[in-house]
Amino acid sequence: MSESILKIIPTNPDYVPATVLQVQAKDFLEKIFTNNNVDFQTLAEVEFVDAGENFEPILCNVCSTEISADEWQDQMDEAFQKQFSDLSFQTSCKHHTSLNDLNYQSSAGFAKFIISVADTQIELSKGEILELEKILKTYLRVIWAFY
Ligand SMILES: [Zn+2]
Repeated sequence: MSESILKIIPTNPDYVPATVLQVQAKDFLEKIFTNNNVDFQTLAEVEFVDAGENFEPILCNVCSTEISADEWQDQMDEAFQKQFSDLSFQTSCKHHTSLNDLNYQSSAGFAKFIISVADTQIELSKGEILELEKILKTYLRVIWAFY
């Protein structure tokens, strides 16, 4: 059986909420996910957060041209050299964008701060995400990962 993990990350890869905000967010989430393990992680460096086996084609966020796996991997390698501190690049379709802004159809992103909820079927409502964004003082991106 495959395992699903709900991941929530700030839209700004470098953003790490203050501890006091994290405590509030954890209280808030543990009321929603009562039987699940809500885990907060702060990494030393920005990392790519993907959807596991759920990975689907990546599109240019400007013109929707598919970014080939090779092109994407090359840009990832380059950005990795800089610890993902600079995610901007020019696509082969000549658009200036960022690895974080590409249209990941299965949803993905870059983050230093990651909330994960193991094995849940519960979806957060728009209202709950707004509330969580208010608590953490950041816009958030929700990623469903399958392993
Ligand atoms: Zn493009």
